[in-house]
Amino acid sequence: MTLTQRDKKHLWHPLTQHKLHPDHLAITKAKGALLFDDQGKEYIDGIASWYTCMYGHCNSYITQKVAAQMQQLDHVVFAGFTHEPAVKLSEALITILPKNQQKLFFSDNGSTSVDVAIKMALQYHFNNGEKRTKIIALEGGFHGDTFGAMSVSGLSVYNGPFEDFFIDVERIPVPNKDNIEEVKNIIEKIIKEHHVAAFIYEPLVQGAAAMKMYASEFLEELLAIAKKNNVLTIADEVMTGFGKTGKNFASEYLYHLPDIICLSKSLTAGLVPMAITSCSQKIYDAFLSDELGKGFFHGHTYSANPIACSAALAGVELLKSDEIQQNIERIILSHKKFDQRIKGHAKVRETRQLGVIYALDLHVAMERYGNLRYQLFNFFMENGVCLRPLGNTIYILPPFVITEDQLEKIYTTIEKALDTF
Ligand SMILES: *Cc1c(COP(=O)(O)O)cnc(C)c1O
Repeated sequence: MTLTQRDKKHLWHPLTQHKLHPDHLAITKAKGALLFDDQGKEYIDGIASWYTCMYGHCNSYITQKVAAQMQQLDHVVFAGFTHEPAVKLSEALITILPKNQQKLFFSDNGSTSVDVAIKMALQYHFNNGEKRTKIIALEGGFHGDTFGAMSVSGLSVYNGPFEDFFIDVERIPVPNKDNIEEVKNIIEKIIKEHHVAAFIYEPLVQGAAAMKMYASEFLEELLAIAKKNNVLTIADEVMTGFGKTGKNFASEYLYHLPDIICLSKSLTAGLVPMAITSCSQKIYDAFLSDELGKGFFHGHTYSANPIACSAALAGVELLKSDEIQQNIERIILSHKKFDQRIKGHAKVRETRQLGVIYALDLHVAMERYGNLRYQLFNFFMENGVCLRPLGNTIYILPPFVITEDQLEKIYTTIEKALDTF
């Protein structure tokens, strides 16, 4: 029996209706920008396995550091203990994070980093003697699948059974040049009429909303209103973090720095799960007290796992390297040239790019998970390219180590798809 056949017996996959999609392709190894299946066929990983493996799969610099750490210290409880990988990672991360970020809190994945951020924001006001219970979020946002993170995400048909249990959230439209005055009025009204604790947003790119991009100048205006009203700002950089937007963090495009930042995807270079919620000194200080209960009593068993920290530290070192920075510049340029080639195509409605993130919308009306999405996905895979279109959007978010030839193969495969469908 093949792995695909054996898989069906006991495994339940994420985000999957198994009745409609029973088969799962078996991947046996990965290197650089390539995935290999159990038949030996190779695929270019055009989305860096959900934006995680940005320095390439099985990057030997990272695997060596992690292998060495495994011989030294595997795990220790992070409540009451500390260790070198966490300390070193904190020192390295603080030098690249937006300059107001001072403290790092560990958890396990993007969703938990968001839950931590929400709890930090709620307790910040609680500790300061203010009962603020509402969170403002952007329509169409995605922040994860745990209850808190799901609550602040955009409404989705998949969340029907849980909506009654959501935390108190008000969603506002993503600001643009046409609606900015209206959105400013909406957010001001919500802040005036409710006790708002925080505003959470994916800065500049809404990943799961099909790489929808919006300009920093409009976000800036909303952040200014939040700051003025002591509404904490939470930048969910789980997708945008670590160089993908052309800067280390998307928040660097903005003048108003967030009080709290969520990080996960590509934090550990795709090796193991881990997340960090960082915050400014002001947030941390609100939890310092002689009263035990004012502390932040949130914790996960694997908080700051040394193996994960060593992977993350190696990742930050690579991100800062000339080699990776030059690769980022190269990919940005290649995308721009591809954009010139493709944007006039009759089937292309709109294209957009920020850093190494490139997206194009097709000229077809269809619901988000319509049939075309699966046809395109299958077409790309048959042609040795792993891309996962979202609705009628095709996007590329390649590992920084992808070669020019591999990039060109992605581009020509997209062009072939446009001529086929
Ligand atoms: C993926 C993602 C999350 C959730 O991360 P998980 O690790 O899947 O829980 C949260 N926010 C953003 C912006 C994401 O892209």
